[in-house]
Amino acid sequence: MVVGDFPIETDTLVIGAGPGGYVAAIRAAQLGQKVTVVEKATLGGVCLNVGCIPSKALISAGHRYEHAKHSEQFGIKAENVTVDFSKVQEFKQGVVKKLTGGVAGLLKGNKVDVVYGEAYFVDSETVKVMDEKSSQTYKFKNVIIATGSRPVEIPTFKFSKRVIDSTGALNLPEIPKKLVVIGGGVIGIELGSAYANFGTEVTFIEAADDILVGFEKQMTSIVTRNLKKKGAEIFTKASAKSVEESETGVKVTFEINGEEKVVEADYLLVSVGRRPNTDELGLEQVGVEMTERGIIKIDKQCRTNVPNIYAIGDIVEGPQLAHKASYEGKIAAEAIAGEKAEIDYLGIPAVVFSEPELATVGYTEASAKAEGIEVVAAKFPFAANGRALSLNDTDGFLKLVTRKEDGLVIGAQIAGPSASDMISELSLAIEAGMTAEDIAMTIHAHPTLGEITMEAAEVAIGSPIHIVK
Ligand SMILES: Cc1cc2nc3c(=O)[nH]c(=O)nc-3n(C[C@H](O)[C@H](O)[C@H](O)COP(=O)(O)OP(=O)(O)OC[C@H]3O[C@@H](n4cnc5c(N)ncnc54)[C@H](O)[C@@H]3O)c2cc1C
Repeated sequence: MVVGDFPIETDTLVIGAGPGGYVAAIRAAQLGQKVTVVEKATLGGVCLNVGCIPSKALISAGHRYEHAKHSEQFGIKAENVTVDFSKVQEFKQGVVKKLTGGVAGLLKGNKVDVVYGEAYFVDSETVKVMDEKSSQTYKFKNVIIATGSRPVEIPTFKFSKRVIDSTGALNLPEIPKKLVVIGGGVIGIELGSAYANFGTEVTFIEAADDILVGFEKQMTSIVTRNLKKKGAEIFTKASAKSVEESETGVKVTFEINGEEKVVEADYLLVSVGRRPNTDELGLEQVGVEMTERGIIKIDKQCRTNVPNIYAIGDIVEGPQLAHKASYEGKIAAEAIAGEKAEIDYLGIPAVVFSEPELATVGYTEASAKAEGIEVVAAKFPFAANGRALSLNDTDGFLKLVTRKEDGLVIGAQIAGPSASDMISELSLAIEAGMTAEDIAMTIHAHPTLGEITMEAAEVAIGSPIHIVK
């Protein structure tokens, strides 16, 4: 201990103030604990500062530009539509600032102490928090680790001025004329699509046989078609080999079908996954069990093998999603308070803000079959929905997966406009143990995209109104 460093005592210490940590801290405070949250950078974590929120602001701006240019079907013709990209960046940062300020207010309002600095474990009841100038020791009864993740850096594609990660892609000073994206996962596709909407020629290089691995081919093929319509090139089963960087751009070499190809661009975005921030925490001092990849092992209450140490969010198993981190944060806080809360991942949705949006929750037809569950998969197209037609946005479908024996809703997949909002009704259906009949009997307002969910449920129970049986 540093001389004069008297330990500060707290009930629950939370390390990291991302969507996992700040939510855990608020819930723990609501449950009567004295809570301290330690953050080494900015409140809100990756999600609010360089993830979910700024990427959606950029995507929205790209959509506005696209719509402004292409609304002829509505009788609207605009000439000389231009983008002031510095204003787009200003808008994006404004949204970030509002939200991170909001988090500060919420923590204060819930009497959570916020400490800025980097936390490092001394033992299972003590961390040292360091900033550039000083260090302070904290003693706690319980700790929730919520330190999140960072982009994976490949040695051949070291990040630099022109070889960028997702944060670099969010903060570009100008709209690139050409952009190469290595990785056709959610982040690569979302950011690549945003720039494709601004007119950038985007080339995707993906090692797997499809983009957006994990989503059904029926869904990804619509995204692929739309990206190609915007002039994007997508190379799957392709392997990126090397990059040559100059002051003004990059030359990327990749291999496909045994042949080498070279593509030139202004920037190369490398988006090949994220690694957990568990390597610089001193976890070895306390014996917290991790996988080889640095993922912390937890039980159903987010507790590690050390009974007073909990872990949540991107550093534990499961999809790296903000709402999953927040959900686990609430479970961990409640477990510490002695409540019986337990994780159940079935109702956790995943969304891609592509064009069209993709969303999934629970089982797919294939994953249910793989587990030997007999299902009915009922599909309803956006093209048969009045609201989708009036929006001139009819690409896509909703697929409801129900258990054959009793009609229980166990999953759903949506490709289409507002899929990101529509999926919540299906998460609720799963969480509440509803059947297809319950959804079919629920009156949905007309004309709305939400009716598609009701119509798919009607297909599931064999009484569709707006498509022929
Ligand atoms: C471009 C992009 C877009 C995304 N879009 C979405 C989306 O649309 N929807 C979605 O659900 N998810 C999205 N994600 C993923 C989402 O951001 C993460 O899943 C989420 O932020 C994880 O939350 P977390 O609380 O686990 O960690 P983080 O948000 O990473 O927060 C961890 C915090 O811990 C701090 N920290 C780390 N180490 C220490 C230490 N030793 N001491 C003190 N503090 C420390 C960090 O500074 C950080 O603030 C996106 C990610 C990216 C990169």
